[in-house]
Amino acid sequence: MTSLPVLPLSPAAVGRRPALPPRHLADLDLAGRQALVAELGEPAFRAKQLSTHYFGRLVRDPAQMTDLPAATRDRLAEALMPRLLTPVREMACDDGATRKALWRLHDGSLVESVLMGYPDRVTVCISSQAGCGMACPFCATGQAGLTRNLSTAEIVDQAVYLAGVAASGAVAGSPPRLSHVVFMGMGEPLANYSRVVDAVRRLCAPAPEGLGLSQRHVTVSTVGLVPAMRRLAGEGLSVTLALSLHAPDDELRDELVPVNQRWKVAEVLDAAWDYASRTGRRVSVEYAMIRDVNDQPWRADLLGRLLAGRLAHVNLIPLNPTPGSRWDASPKPVEREFVRRLREAGVSTTVRDTRGREIDGACGQLAASETSSADGR
Ligand code: SAH
Repeated sequence: MTSLPVLPLSPAAVGRRPALPPRHLADLDLAGRQALVAELGEPAFRAKQLSTHYFGRLVRDPAQMTDLPAATRDRLAEALMPRLLTPVREMACDDGATRKALWRLHDGSLVESVLMGYPDRVTVCISSQAGCGMACPFCATGQAGLTRNLSTAEIVDQAVYLAGVAASGAVAGSPPRLSHVVFMGMGEPLANYSRVVDAVRRLCAPAPEGLGLSQRHVTVSTVGLVPAMRRLAGEGLSVTLALSLHAPDDELRDELVPVNQRWKVAEVLDAAWDYASRTGRRVSVEYAMIRDVNDQPWRADLLGRLLAGRLAHVNLIPLNPTPGSRWDASPKPVEREFVRRLREAGVSTTVRDTRGREIDGACGQLAASETSSADGR
């Protein structure tokens, strides 16, 4: 019998106080920005001008904000647009259609984001925390523990920055406009609840208040923090909820997703169906296919019974083995049989593509500690 992983304590619980980044306009709604600009002794309309540069034109260099008086430009940019993300390394693969960015935050924490171009859309996968406290044993980020929550603006800025990269035409064969955002980078979004919800609002507010994405094109992925899932269902947002299930039974899920020790499969699925019925949105059930661990035909059948007739879609993710891991991806024939059984049960199922594998940009590989050697640290 294997012993169950233990959830690590949060930094707050052990007395460390994570340093927050400086305030940025993306932390505030438009009214908040106008109030701040007024406090700085400038006319309120400057807030809109700055916001149009940042969200509308994806411009962050004050020198390019020529509609603002030169003396005001630097002052306002310094007060409302401090640099939050310093690119440490950018890597491309899949013929330039996938690009991973490693950022250093103001306190030295490292986080990553991934830009993925498809013929019909451009998606960014963003981080909501530096590290993660959820300790899923197959996930690289889970191994390192939680450093801190990201601020709203640190979350938003990943998408805005990469929207600028996409707009420059860097993703060949894709539209220039960022259309989709998934919270599937580092961290557990619902453990940083209010900042993540704020970030979603900012990403979806029309420019110049926000980036103007459609809520339906935003996906928030969770290990299954039940109270937060229920709260999210009441926010009046129509974002897609992805639930990282990975096992249909408590015995195995207790091990693969340790938070299951607190909220069991039945409870987490109940909260998912509540989300689906209150938002009308189909829940995306994520399931990493791990060889001889969770890929047995009987588990496919059990999963099929749990999901049949529900507003759900299964997204099977071929496991991306983390360095030193005892686990491997399921063989293709096993994966195909798993898909077949789910579909036979009437459950819509697809297998996720594995973008970014060569640059450690694929699911669960976003562990900045692995890349820090490339950074010379
Ligand atoms: N904490 C959130 C979001 C981040 S991870 C969550 O767990 O949902 C995004 C997805 O990648 C999750 O479904 C996660 O379980 C999956 N994942 C993590 N490590 C993986 C790996 N090594 N191979 C395949 N999928 C992985």
